[in-house]
Amino acid sequence: MRMSNRGRLLVLSGPSGTGKSTVVRGLVQHSDRLRLSVSATTRSPRGYETEGVDYFFLAAEEFRRRIVDGEMLEYASYNGNYYGTPQDAVDAWLDEGYDVLLEIEVQGALQVKERRPDAILVFLVPPSMKEAEARLRGRGSEDDATVRARLAIAAGEIRQAIHYDYIVVNHTVEQAVEDIGAVLRAAHLSAEAMEGHLENLLAECPL
Ligand code: 5GP
Repeated sequence: MRMSNRGRLLVLSGPSGTGKSTVVRGLVQHSDRLRLSVSATTRSPRGYETEGVDYFFLAAEEFRRRIVDGEMLEYASYNGNYYGTPQDAVDAWLDEGYDVLLEIEVQGALQVKERRPDAILVFLVPPSMKEAEARLRGRGSEDDATVRARLAIAAGEIRQAIHYDYIVVNHTVEQAVEDIGAVLRAAHLSAEAMEGHLENLLAECPL
C-alpha cells in the first residue's frame, strides 16, 4: 500500500507531571483518524483501570513469551515492570489508514524509531519543572520522596529528548493538542506521503 494511504505512527513521551494523559485524551477526541494503542504491562491494575482499555494486564511469563515470539513492536522495563506495544493491532490500524498513537516511555520510543524510521517522535515537556512538580504534588497521591524520585527520572528523560523529532511545550492542553496535530498534518503532506497524488497528476498530463 502507498505511504499516502497508510497511517502514520505517532509516538508521544514526556516526564511525569507534564500532563501527557490529558493531551492524549485531547488528541484522540480531536481526530477520528487517530487510534490509541493499548499497551501490555505486568504491573497490577489501578482501581480505575479496565483490562483491554487502559492496558492488557499480563503475567511476567506471558509477557516474556510474547517478546520471544516477536509479538511486541517495542518493550521496556520501567519501575520494575514490563511495558510493551502489541504489534498486530498497530499494523492493522496503519494498514486501514489510521494514524496510531503510542504513549510510551523513552527506551521504547527509541526502539520504535529504530524499527520504524518513518515513525514521528514527539516529546512533551512542561513549561517549567516547577510546574511539573506542582502537578505531581497536586495529585496528592505521592509522598515527598516519590515526587523527588520522579523529578530525578524526569531529568534523565529530558536528556534523551534530543533523539526525538519534535518537542512540544504543554503550556495549555489546547495548544499542545494543536501543535501535535500540526506535526501530524505536516507528515501527511511530506513529498514522500504525497507521491501517489503526484503520480496521479502526471498520469493526467499529456505526454
Ligand atoms: P504507568 O504505570 O504510570 O501507566 O506508566 C508508566 C510509564 O510506562 C509511562 O511513562 C508510560 O508512558 C509508559 N508506558 C506505557 N505503556 C508503554 C509501552 O507499551 N511501552 C513502553 N515502552 N512504555 C510504556
